[in-house]
Amino acid sequence: MNKPRHPLDKPLRAARSAATGSALGPGYSAANSNTRIHGPRPFTLPQSPAQAPAAPAANLGLNSDRLRLQMVHRLREQGIVDERVLSAMQAVPRHLFVDQGLASRAYEDAALPIGYGQTISQPWVVAHMLSVMCDGRSPVRVLEIGAGCGYQAAVLAQFVPEVHAIERVRGLYEQARLNLAQGRARGRVRLTFGDGMQGLEHRAPFDGIVVAAAGVKIPEALLHQLAVGARLIAPEGTAHQRLILIERTGPSSWHRLELEDVRFVPLRPGTQT
Ligand code: SAH
Repeated sequence: MNKPRHPLDKPLRAARSAATGSALGPGYSAANSNTRIHGPRPFTLPQSPAQAPAAPAANLGLNSDRLRLQMVHRLREQGIVDERVLSAMQAVPRHLFVDQGLASRAYEDAALPIGYGQTISQPWVVAHMLSVMCDGRSPVRVLEIGAGCGYQAAVLAQFVPEVHAIERVRGLYEQARLNLAQGRARGRVRLTFGDGMQGLEHRAPFDGIVVAAAGVKIPEALLHQLAVGARLIAPEGTAHQRLILIERTGPSSWHRLELEDVRFVPLRPGTQT
């Protein structure tokens, strides 16, 4: 007997690239993951005041409103139009979610390392994924897989009343908990330490699901935890990855769309303590 088919089973590039063995392509590291890819080179912006070797982190508090304004301005220039997302990103102090030594770079349009071989996603990636997931919708309960340091969950919590976020690395889960406890998002994000590939069955259905790490395939459990009419956005693939948008169109029907080329850290099963 064949295994039951995945609801979205079809030949995928991801399945072919799995044969290359490496989770990330040559020259790629966790520190430059969770970004959009333009052609063969990672996306970089021309130097702007926000990117110049910046003031010590201690001074950043004073400047961070202005730096965030510049970041939001760049996001608009790069095609982000959802005002909920833009004002959420204006509100959340990204520099408080990274190590003090990197705080001065927090408002560049770049992913940054957060330890444990993981990254905080590039601002454009966060803005784009949330915009696409929420487009034409007002989600009340959203699930994030791969909380990392908690930044994206904090952004979501600015305009979504109930955010659930799962992280599989114990140290990052603890870090996210501390980071989220400081901010205005307090109480709106419920963090779970566990394997997000299973989703969060007892809280389903979700009005949106966002996955911050790339699996060879989008985990089937997540598709079933999506409310009808809701959207999931996730990177998929290994050496070659794409953002995938899935909309649940009925109790047993899903529509799938392939979006941009991206590079994310891998989605891994189980937990790491
Ligand atoms: N959301 C973060 C991005 C973190 S990077 C942000 O705001 O920038 C992706 C995260 O996914 C990593 O922390 C990694 O540990 C986590 N991850 C990978 N596989 C996972 C899984 N199966 N369940 C939960 N988290 C997972």
